[in-house]
Amino acid sequence: MDNKISKIGVFTSGGDAPGMNAAIRATIRAAIYYNKEVYGIMRGYEGMIDNEIVKMGARSVGNILQRGGTILKTARSEMFRTKEGREKAYQNLKKCGIDALVAIGGDGSFTGLHKFYEEFNIPSICIPGTIDNDIAGTDYTIGFDTATNTAVEAIDRIRDTALSHNRLFFIEVMGRNSGYIAVNCGIAGGAVAVILPEETTSFDQLFTLLEKGGKTNKKSSLVVVAEGSKIGGASELAKMVAERSNYFDIKVTILGHMQRGGSPTYFDRVLASKMGVAAIEGLLAGKSDVMVGIRDNKMVYNEFNTIMTQTHEIDSEALRIAKILSI
Ligand code: ATP
Repeated sequence: MDNKISKIGVFTSGGDAPGMNAAIRATIRAAIYYNKEVYGIMRGYEGMIDNEIVKMGARSVGNILQRGGTILKTARSEMFRTKEGREKAYQNLKKCGIDALVAIGGDGSFTGLHKFYEEFNIPSICIPGTIDNDIAGTDYTIGFDTATNTAVEAIDRIRDTALSHNRLFFIEVMGRNSGYIAVNCGIAGGAVAVILPEETTSFDQLFTLLEKGGKTNKKSSLVVVAEGSKIGGASELAKMVAERSNYFDIKVTILGHMQRGGSPTYFDRVLASKMGVAAIEGLLAGKSDVMVGIRDNKMVYNEFNTIMTQTHEIDSEALRIAKILSI
């Protein structure tokens, strides 16, 4: 292991995701296990620029494993996109003696880290933390499992009220341009249709499906819509259906930020713990400018260029199953 590294900085960046705390804990404890000093950088790249850097110990991360959010806070930093901002961040790290970085965030955070590495040559590793599961090179990102479980629980509750009133519900879930959350919620929540950014179900096809449900005596229908849907969000689709037919009693629920909160599932806690340890072990083995991932249940390290030139394709088997089961 590379003993040239002595002080490691860790931070969370971009959108928050449940399980980030578990990743912070694992990173910090693994660094200490390998006799390295470790610092928490508050509010991602913003805190790096504003010099909000605190020394962490094994006990600083006690009792956070099960908590949602991130104790280090997170931010999106416009300043870090500028050369001047990154220079300021570098000077602050230098003052502290930080000679390696672990970022927990999405592909934007990894892009920032890559740029910083190219400019200042600080060994750095990214851990994928985002509910969207939209990053290539890993089967799962931290937070996806919890967010999907939260959405499914909400869908179950909506189903109770939908059934009582014979209603058609359009439920919008997060995921930005990825339909991972939507398709899995669709299957687990028994949706009549899932509308995804990756797939081109037309409005006519959707309407035909809903009409068929009406004719075959479906007591209620739930349509799960990914926020990045190309044919319209939940509100737009509901309006379009209402304009074409007055048969349906239509309601819309946009789940929104509640999907980001809450205690991480066991899966996210274990994933985050594995990724935190892998990040430190990777750094100490001389790896840099890579993102930790999990592929076929094994930890892997992905080069920046590999991640950025690929997309995490939607699970086609999940799509097929959602269609078969929606009759
Ligand atoms: P999420 O997927 O949850 O949105 P993310 O990490 O992709 O997370 P972004 O807002 O895209 O979130 O990126 C986080 C931060 O990374 C940005 O606010 C910015 O400070 C930095 N960053 C992103 N792209 C660049 C870039 N090209 N150059 C420098 N910094 C960047």
